[in-house]
Amino acid sequence: MKRIFLLLSAAFLLFTGCESTQERITKQSFAFDTVISITADKKDKEHIDKALGMCNEYELIFSRTNPESELYKINNLSVSTLSPHMENVLNFSLDFSEKTQGAFDITVAPLCALWNVNSRKEPPTEAEVKAALNTVGYEKLSLSPFSLNGATLDLGAVAKGYIADKLAEGFREKGVDNVIIDLGGNVFVLGEYTVGIRNPSSPDEVFATIKLKDKSAVTSGAYQRYFEYEGKRYHHIIDPRTGYSAQSGISSVTVVSPSSMHADALSTAIFILGEDALSLCNEFPDTDALIITKDNKVITTDNFEEKYNLSIQ
Ligand code: ADP
Ligand code: MG
Repeated sequence: MKRIFLLLSAAFLLFTGCESTQERITKQSFAFDTVISITADKKDKEHIDKALGMCNEYELIFSRTNPESELYKINNLSVSTLSPHMENVLNFSLDFSEKTQGAFDITVAPLCALWNVNSRKEPPTEAEVKAALNTVGYEKLSLSPFSLNGATLDLGAVAKGYIADKLAEGFREKGVDNVIIDLGGNVFVLGEYTVGIRNPSSPDEVFATIKLKDKSAVTSGAYQRYFEYEGKRYHHIIDPRTGYSAQSGISSVTVVSPSSMHADALSTAIFILGEDALSLCNEFPDTDALIITKDNKVITTDNFEEKYNLSIQ
């Protein structure tokens, strides 16, 4: 049962807005602990295969748990020469950690490992949380020269966004301009599409639809990776101020942006900080967000409804 939750993407695509005369093909694979899929014209099949192959290569850079990955070696073997991809993501992440005063914090890895919500049945002790919290703090991280100063890194809130951007860029360079990239909750469409946002209280249902053209939509929610203990839900988005799952009254937040990396990091940060953090979107070009609160209220950035043709189901 749990497996099915893991496999469901946070956003799903309903139908295309552009009339394609071409036969379409969808290919799926498994990466980043989720099902990923790419849809394009059948004639572009080889480009899809190449992009899915690239996902395996990116996984070997950004996975926290695969002993073969660059990130694993940085965390566990103190390797300090960074690949250009790693450098890009770390530069952005450190900057964004400062912007959010550490609500978004890639040194949250010890807490992610401790909570391990995919297999835990009950919460860790307060002492365990406290001990893990001691090693968390983006201020420890230095990029030039690179030094962790006792911290360890988790890029789960930003890597899929970076990868989606790179895949979209690759398709554009090849002249492939009608594509759906879905990295389990991180969607990037080239062309015009209507995208469904899941109902966080009933994830098989569509809560709302939005229209996107050449943009990414990323959803963070507490309805896919979690466990429940004594009536309380513990999920995978950690508030580094407490060491526990974020409790900001939000059920899900969807961020729309021309940059999937921006959308990915923002969706996580807004989920932790709550509706006041919608203003963070102003710091990124053409970027907007929609929050569904626990009591089913919808809160958006200005003009969201008109800009994305928002339709609540
Ligand atoms: P998903 O992985 O479901 O797409 P998110 O993009 O919101 O969801 O990222 C959540 C992931 O980010 C967690 O699984 C964990 O790896 C990492 N993470 C958790 N809390 C934080 C945080 N406060 N700052 C940065 N990364 C976090
Ligand atoms: Mg994210």
